[in-house]
Amino acid sequence: MNNFEKYCTQFVQAVGNKEGAISPAITSSASFGYGDAETAEGIFNGSVKKPLYSRMGNPITSRLEAIMAQMDKGVGAVATSSGMGATTLATISLLSAGDEIISIGGLFGGTYALFNETLQRFAIKTTFFDVDELAKIQNAITENTKIIFLESVGNPNMRLPDIKAIADIANKAGIALIVDNTVTPLSISPLELGADIVVYSTTKIITGNASALGGCAVFRAIKEGEDKFKSNRYSFLAKFIKGAGKMALIPNAKKRALRDLGMSANANASYQTLLGLETLPLRLPRIVQSVETIVKALDEAGININHPSLTSHPHHERYKSDFSNGCGMLFTIDMESTEKAYKFINTTKLATITANIGDSRTLALHMASTIYSDFDIETRKFLGISDGLIRISIGLESPQDIIDDFLNAAKQ
Ligand SMILES: *Cc1c(COP(=O)(O)O)cnc(C)c1O
Repeated sequence: MNNFEKYCTQFVQAVGNKEGAISPAITSSASFGYGDAETAEGIFNGSVKKPLYSRMGNPITSRLEAIMAQMDKGVGAVATSSGMGATTLATISLLSAGDEIISIGGLFGGTYALFNETLQRFAIKTTFFDVDELAKIQNAITENTKIIFLESVGNPNMRLPDIKAIADIANKAGIALIVDNTVTPLSISPLELGADIVVYSTTKIITGNASALGGCAVFRAIKEGEDKFKSNRYSFLAKFIKGAGKMALIPNAKKRALRDLGMSANANASYQTLLGLETLPLRLPRIVQSVETIVKALDEAGININHPSLTSHPHHERYKSDFSNGCGMLFTIDMESTEKAYKFINTTKLATITANIGDSRTLALHMASTIYSDFDIETRKFLGISDGLIRISIGLESPQDIIDDFLNAAKQ
């Protein structure tokens, strides 16, 4: 049984109720009555497990968090208002002024701007590396390094990291590894490969239909004996480890980020996300299969395609060995010039032109003129954004229909 089969059973069983209303109830209340003073005290000190206030947690959001934690074999999860909310929560809850982040891979634009601009304003420095610069990554670690951040698949550069090797570096140095697994849920299990926190934009393939913005961070358990989070580097965690034991990263994230910054999930969005999640293990393998079929046909027709399933890709071997469940829904087409790229985009009939990815529909976007229009030429070069680059996110359509449409668009 592959990953996807197992989750087909697990998710539908976990989302629906066996008695009464099958579809999970949306609790839209912002606040909750405690009944008496003692219960109020217990809820606030964590000894009574009842909702406190929807900024800190909500019943349907908790249900989503439980399933996400189980999916990644984490000890718990915190759902957020967006993917950027999840990345902000996971990073900020471990950072102070003067700290450093090591960021690896072709980065999502919002994450790049968060690290390079916003966090820099708060005296947090980030250095950026390509996935294969392992020696440089090792050398960049200082006593102030708190986080190594990695995307499971470079979006949009399509470079694949050796996650295990990077996790080994992080674990030897005693530094937290956070993996953005938005593009490869179920296909890649970062915590099993040695990461500490996984972040998702659930807006993408997890919900899968553009019906809700959302995010989620999944945390591993603090170990009983030695653990990097018990070192001086993370001394601020000591009080949470004392109070919450193996769960410590959850109250740390909830108090330092959700409570103080408020990127909390919305109950309606959690509901939509649960509905998406229950069909994720059906949709994703179809999309992975379609991507491989489409990429092969377009490549054979002489179109300049970037995807690691092609033997010409530098990470083809890694794709076969480490990404046996595929690397998600993305690939890029380089049309060589802005003009040709615009022509392609304006000729395709099936692709929807939008900045989103991971939708039921196939999506396309010219990179340099949209998401990366704010970035200087040098940064675009580092991120692999050439003038003619179009990012494609494959949906549930018949792959042959997409191939026919794209071949027609490319020949204009
Ligand atoms: C979209 C995306 C994000 C941000 O998610 P939002 O839900 O739009 O805030 C983060 N990382 C990756 C890889 C993404 O594709």
